[in-house]
Amino acid sequence: MAQSGAGKRTVERLRITVRGAVQGAVFRPHVRELARELSVGGWVRDSGDGVHIEAEASGGELDRFIERLRTETPADSRISVILSRKIKPVGDDVFEIRESSDSRREALSLPDVSICPECLAEIRNPSDRRYRYPFTTCANCGPRFSVLTGAPYTRAQTTMRGFAMCDECRAEYERPADRRHGNELNACPECGPELAALLPYTPLLHLIAEGAGRPLVITTGNVSREPACIDEREAFDRLGGIADAFLVHDQPIARPVADSLVRVLFREPQVLRRSHGYAPEPVTIARDGRPLLAVGAQRTGTVALVEGRDV
Ligand SMILES: [Zn+2]
Ligand SMILES: [Zn+2]
Repeated sequence: MAQSGAGKRTVERLRITVRGAVQGAVFRPHVRELARELSVGGWVRDSGDGVHIEAEASGGELDRFIERLRTETPADSRISVILSRKIKPVGDDVFEIRESSDSRREALSLPDVSICPECLAEIRNPSDRRYRYPFTTCANCGPRFSVLTGAPYTRAQTTMRGFAMCDECRAEYERPADRRHGNELNACPECGPELAALLPYTPLLHLIAEGAGRPLVITTGNVSREPACIDEREAFDRLGGIADAFLVHDQPIARPVADSLVRVLFREPQVLRRSHGYAPEPVTIARDGRPLLAVGAQRTGTVALVEGRDV
C-alpha cells in the first residue's frame, strides 16, 4: 500500500476493524498513543462488533501503525483479527477517541482473568487497604464475562452496578498512571460487595485456602448433571441436603460459568471444555464459515456460533 514514487509521499486513509477482546477502557487510549507516535490522524471508537479505527497518514506510516497494533497489544486485550480497507482521505492530522457507537450486536467481551501478582500481594499485606478483601481486582485481572450483563463493558453493565465507588477507589479509577485506571470493577471493603459466594473468583479462593491451611476440594454449586446454582435461594433449595454450610454475599452473579478442562497431550494443551478463562473469546478459523449455530444435546450442553472466522 505504500506509495513513494520519486520520493513523493502519498497520503492514504484506512478504515480498520479490530476484533477480539479489545473493548474496555485500555485499548482505545493505546490506539491513540500509537497513532500520535506515528503522526497518524483519524479516530478510534468502540462499536458493537469490535473497535473501529480510521487512520490517515502516508502508506509507510500506516503499515507501521497496523504492524504495531498487531504486535503491541496491551495486557488484558487480545486481538483475533484486524481488517482494513482503503477509503478516501479527508485531511485528518490529529487523532482522537470518539464516543462508542450504538451497538446492535453485543461485542465480544473479555474472559475472566485470574488474580495478578500485585493484587495477590495486596490481599496478603496487613497494611494494605484491600487486606483480605475477596473482590480485589485491577485493570489487569478479575472477572469480566461472568459479571457482564450487557454491552459495552462499563460498570453499569456489570453486577457491580449497585456499588458506587468510594473517593479513594474513584481516584484510582481516574488516575492514568494507576494500575486500576479504567478498572470498571474497582472496589474495596469501604464500597464493594459486603463480604460474606463462591463468586468463581480467585482472591476469595486464596483467602479460603489460606484460612483452611490444608488442601481443599472445591466444586461448582450443582448436583451432578444439573446446571450450577447462581443465587442463594436456589442454592438453599437445591443443595440444602448436601452442603454443610453456605457462604453467601450480596453481589449478584450474572451467569453460571463452568471450570475449563485442559489436558496436556504431546506437550500441547488440549482443551476439553472451553469455559472460564477462555469463553467468550472466539476460536478463529482459517476462512469464513457459513453462519451456523451448534448446540449440545444435554442441559449443560455447549453452544457454538460461527460468524465469519469466529467460532
Ligand atoms: Zn490485579
Ligand atoms: Zn472503595
